Amino acid sequence: MQPQTNHSTARSLSQDEIIQSVDFRFRICQFLFRAAVVWVVIGIVLFAIAFSAGILLSGLSFMAMTISLGLFTAAFAVTLAIYRCPVCDTRLSFFHSEQIDCAGCNVKIK
Ligand SMILES: [Zn+2]
Repeated sequence: MQPQTNHSTARSLSQDEIIQSVDFRFRICQFLFRAAVVWVVIGIVLFAIAFSAGILLSGLSFMAMTISLGLFTAAFAVTLAIYRCPVCDTRLSFFHSEQIDCAGCNVKIK
C-alpha cells in the first residue's frame, strides 16, 4: 500500500522517512523505560546499603523508587502518545518490536 497522510495539505512520507520516524519514536520510548529501570536499580542498591546499616526505611531509596515510578508512568504515557504509525496514526506495539508492518495500513515500519 502506498504511504498516505491524514492531512490533505501534508506531503506523503517516503518509505525511509516512515522507518526513520518509527525508529526515532521507538528510541525515545526505549530511553524512558531504560532510565526508569536504572532508577529501580539505584533504589534497590540504596535500600540494600541502608538495610545493611540497620535502617529499614531509607529516604534515598524511597526517593529513587519514586523517581522510577514517575519515569515508568511518563514512559507509558509517551509510548501511548507517540509510538504510532506516522501514516495512519494506528498505535504500534512497543513490546512486539519484531512487528515490521503497521496493522492499520500495512505500510512497512522496520
Ligand atoms: Zn499505519
